[in-house]
Amino acid sequence: MSRHLLDIAQLERRTLDYLLDRGEYWLDPAHAEVGRTRLIGRGVALLFYENSTRTRCSFELAARRLGADVLNLDIEHSAVEKGESIVDTGTTLAAMGISHFVIRHGSEGVPAELASALPSGSSVLNAGEAHVAHPTQALLDALTLRRSFGQLEGLRIAIIGDIRHSRVAASAISIFRRLGVGEIRLAGPRPLLPDNTPEGTQMSDRRDEALAEVDVVMALRIQRERMARTTTPDPEDYREHWGLEEADLARLAPEARLMHPGPVNRGVEISDELADGPRSLIREQVRNGVAMRMAVLEWLDEENRNGQ
Ligand code: ASP
Repeated sequence: MSRHLLDIAQLERRTLDYLLDRGEYWLDPAHAEVGRTRLIGRGVALLFYENSTRTRCSFELAARRLGADVLNLDIEHSAVEKGESIVDTGTTLAAMGISHFVIRHGSEGVPAELASALPSGSSVLNAGEAHVAHPTQALLDALTLRRSFGQLEGLRIAIIGDIRHSRVAASAISIFRRLGVGEIRLAGPRPLLPDNTPEGTQMSDRRDEALAEVDVVMALRIQRERMARTTTPDPEDYREHWGLEEADLARLAPEARLMHPGPVNRGVEISDELADGPRSLIREQVRNGVAMRMAVLEWLDEENRNGQ
């Protein structure tokens, strides 16, 4: 049996805590040297069937900082374009000695399908699956909040915007519930909210109510690529009703912080002043992402080596 990271829900609380501690460990520059020896001789393949800047670069840096051989598959110029299936691509790379497969895909179930086809001892790391899951984003968000607030227990968090199409929101809700967040409020324009309120959350289309006294606001990108043209909100209209601006700070808790998974549509989901201001955690999220992905790669590598 191989270990994979397909979804946050698969991780026990103690594993979450362990991974967050290891993320913290890899953030410390004093550990950079020891890091370079961890995955020597191991192969990590990056299979991004959807665009990415942060997640892809972050995984690549994480793998390199652990000393792994990194293979960045150029999907557009690969045999995928000749009709090769993902399973065949994966097993071909496994035959070359790749052990870890970082995959992003627009269709639900593809990371699990790959996981079930790979030889024992290989791991799949879900780097974004349709609107369904983005587990390493959830981990890096949790690490960012833990570093900022000391713990997540009791925090009031509002997630604002396109909840319906957001794998970030889905995985965030899952990890926040497990880590004891006090309140998870979801808010956005009606067409961008899911049909049913996710368990453990409160959901509304009343923005000011959702923002009242929260410790954290996570703004989301409007995910046009998952919407029919007719339901895509007009950016100006969205900014006016849902964009976060300086004036909103007064509604939040006094020390409230702002997050966004990126890429940010500046001036639509969040104003420049807020995105670059002292309350913003956006850069820290990106920085913590590399350390968090080091922790996940290291953990899966150890689990799968021990399990073999
Ligand atoms: N980068 C995140 C994701 O891949 C968020 C986004 O694209 O809006 O889901």
